[in-house]
Amino acid sequence: MLADKDRIFTNVYGFQDWGLKAAQARGDWDDTKALLARGPEAIIEEMKASGLRGRGGAGFPTGLKWSFMPKESRDGRPSFLVINADESEPGSCKDREILRHDPHKLVEGALVAGFAMRARAAYIYVRGEYIREAETLQAAIHQAYEAGLIGKNSCGSGYDFDVFMHRGAGAYICGEETAMIESLEGKKGQPRLKPPFPAGAGLYGCPTTVNNVESIAVAPTILRRGASWFSSFGRENNKGTKLFQISGHVEKPCVVEESMSISFEELIEKHCGGIRGGWDNLLAVIPGGSSVPLVPAAQIRNAPMDFDGLKELGSGLGTAAVIVMDKSTDIVRAISRLSYFYKHESCGQCTPCREGTGWMWRMMERLRTGDAAIEEIDMLQEVTKQVEGHTICALGDAAAWPIQGLIRHFRPELERRINEHNAQFQEAAE
Ligand code: NAD
Ligand code: SF4
Repeated sequence: MLADKDRIFTNVYGFQDWGLKAAQARGDWDDTKALLARGPEAIIEEMKASGLRGRGGAGFPTGLKWSFMPKESRDGRPSFLVINADESEPGSCKDREILRHDPHKLVEGALVAGFAMRARAAYIYVRGEYIREAETLQAAIHQAYEAGLIGKNSCGSGYDFDVFMHRGAGAYICGEETAMIESLEGKKGQPRLKPPFPAGAGLYGCPTTVNNVESIAVAPTILRRGASWFSSFGRENNKGTKLFQISGHVEKPCVVEESMSISFEELIEKHCGGIRGGWDNLLAVIPGGSSVPLVPAAQIRNAPMDFDGLKELGSGLGTAAVIVMDKSTDIVRAISRLSYFYKHESCGQCTPCREGTGWMWRMMERLRTGDAAIEEIDMLQEVTKQVEGHTICALGDAAAWPIQGLIRHFRPELERRINEHNAQFQEAAE
């Protein structure tokens, strides 16, 4: 279990004040000028050495992403940092805690990351429903401006850097990085085709890096304590500490910072008081937010909670939003509800997603009641394969994968419902 002294987010439960003075007492903004004095290259090298992988779900190496940004301005164009605080993945609620209780970690991280990438400003895009969180963040930004920590000559470093808070309007798809950029530009939030990646052409066509809140908020601590300290947690390719968000059928749902690669059992026993009704009552777990396939009880217990460990099980770490389902769960209904979510949130731009998400949801509803033919299970599987990998953004994959996981692990349950429904139908007809 991670020792308290190794926790980056020491105010994750909000027991202390979020304001500047209290944040400084916890170590934030401690000689940030000296961090900047190391220079952009050294900062990026340290981030690379730390092994930090993006905490928004995809796990792309953060230092490497920063290194894609141009060292010199092209045609006088500025560079930008966009921070993704549009946390909308069902099950995910970690960035919310940072915005509420530790906003200065994010603002300081924005400065350090922006400096390393030679960015002119950071735009923090906050989920529309996070009203109080946006107010707290805005107040923290004001405090940082007033204290001279950001703005002109940030922290006395000679570097000018602005931080702007922008509120979304409730569309899940604006969490996709290029849809977010479109939305910031005042357009309808629809994903762009990649490449070009944002580092080549991002906000207003300028070089841009989009990073998740947690990825940015941990950067100052990594630089202060050193890459080797951060990479001493977890295992090869899966380094550092991570905010896990555990919801569903555990005794005590919580958000907790733990070492990467902690086993599922240890995570649940140490922080959540165990599975409701005991381990024999566990049915399945969605380990990384709704976009990753579920893992059945028999496989998850000893699994390392990291990118590689969960990938081996055909799932993923995603945002580390762990949704625990016990045997009281109607698993077909649960996945069907997720299908409805993706149908509702599809931006409608590409046909496989626009048509496929609606088709998959309607099919899932028929499987839920058993009003289907056995062969239609394979047909549904085939449709998920037609959607997966054939769309502009990852929402199509995210809609397909939970259904694939259900069919892979719970086919007998789907067949049971169909057989039961057909038997009832036949009985009524006789
Ligand atoms: P992605 O793999 O396409 O990209 C990840 C990041 O790496 C992006 O910033 C991208 O620009 C960069 N990248 C990838 N390849 C690159 C290359 N060759 N050159 C330069 N940059 C490159 O994934 P994505 O679509 O950004 O994110 C999908 C993930 O988002 C899912 O895994 C899901 O878990 C997660 N997600 C999170 C939330 C949330 O609320 N936090 C919501 C929805 C989805
Ligand atoms: Fe829009 Fe869906 Fe296509 Fe993404 S996959 S661009 S959400 S229609």
